[in-house]
Amino acid sequence: MLNELYQSVIIDHNKSPRNYHEMPEAKNHAEGYNPLCGDKIHVYLSLENNMIEKISFTGQGCAISMASASMMTEALRGKTIEEALLLFETFHQLLTENTPEMAEKLLGKLNILANVKHFPTRVKCATLAWHTLRAALLQDKGKVSTEEV
Ligand code: ZN
Repeated sequence: MLNELYQSVIIDHNKSPRNYHEMPEAKNHAEGYNPLCGDKIHVYLSLENNMIEKISFTGQGCAISMASASMMTEALRGKTIEEALLLFETFHQLLTENTPEMAEKLLGKLNILANVKHFPTRVKCATLAWHTLRAALLQDKGKVSTEEV
């Protein structure tokens, strides 16, 4: 059953993560850590007029954490801060509750990660990038741990 978790899209994003680079000039950035699995992620944001103009990440971790971060950066470019925070809430719902149809529409490709819900220990791997994103958006430069949020 674990194989179902590693669908081809996830494998692909893990092998060749999108937007995987540092952005030293980014004013918004945050670091996240998932002690349960050892995943570490750094998210960089460049905001302009309340909009995510550029987003990138670096880090090390399991396939789920890297793929989730990669897919997140693709989903969020060009979104407003409000839209990004709404997606954060919706994505969190996807992995922890039964998802209303509307949420599935909003999430698009991110629905691929819904299977993670059946592997409770992996939910934090999938949400780490998003918790880190939220910290970066809210300009909290401190470190994020999935154990504290
Ligand atoms: Zn992990």
